[in-house]
Amino acid sequence: MIYYEVLCYSCKRIFRVYEGSLNYKQFKENKAKIFCCEDCSHKIRMDAIKNFFRYLN
Ligand SMILES: [Zn+2]
Repeated sequence: MIYYEVLCYSCKRIFRVYEGSLNYKQFKENKAKIFCCEDCSHKIRMDAIKNFFRYLN
């Protein structure tokens, strides 16, 4: 299986993006872009949702 090893900008861990995934496509097109691993992107998404509700209240 083809993959790239990418550094997560958030937790600074190396994670793999596999061929066929969205991250893989984005990494191939723009290696200067910042990436984060699945754990962090999940966390960031949850934080964004929390902030959204905080904003509403
Ligand atoms: Zn991470």
